[in-house]
Amino acid sequence: MSRSPRDAEPESRVGGVHIKYLHHCPRQLWLYARGYRPEQRSDLVAFGEVVDETTFTRRRDVDLGEAKIDWVTAGAVVHETKSSRAPSPAHAAQVRHYCLLLERRGVAVRGGVVHYPLVRRTLDVPWDADARGQAERSETDALAVIATPTTPGRLRRSACRGCSYLDYCWGD
Ligand code: SF4
Repeated sequence: MSRSPRDAEPESRVGGVHIKYLHHCPRQLWLYARGYRPEQRSDLVAFGEVVDETTFTRRRDVDLGEAKIDWVTAGAVVHETKSSRAPSPAHAAQVRHYCLLLERRGVAVRGGVVHYPLVRRTLDVPWDADARGQAERSETDALAVIATPTTPGRLRRSACRGCSYLDYCWGD
């Protein structure tokens, strides 16, 4: 018998996607943590992967297990590529989380950069005591959402546009 997202076991480790979803929609994080992954067949996500793979051909992913960082340059500076045209607080939060994970592994992190190749923009993400505090609070918040026994409520319908979880939440 297949299990629904509601009764699946949450993952214990928090990765970058968990943090991004926390800042986008706690319900999305909750579902993702229980193994609901409609984004794997989402056209938007597929588009993002194509942008990611074709923009920076010489970079190497850094696999931390719970998180996969797009790439890290000397310093160490964390790089994350987004297919969207507008910066979002969720993107910077994701990069800060990667900085936190690297620092816990003993890396002297310098900061991060979010790349928006479709609009040829970058966003610098500083890494200092304040950023570390934000990253730690996000991780705590993510764990709290994941541990919630019931599904968090939906966002306003207008805020759900483009979300790959629309089918589950709204039956679209
Ligand atoms: S469809 Fe809306 S409520 Fe559902 S996970 Fe996405 S943003 Fe959240």
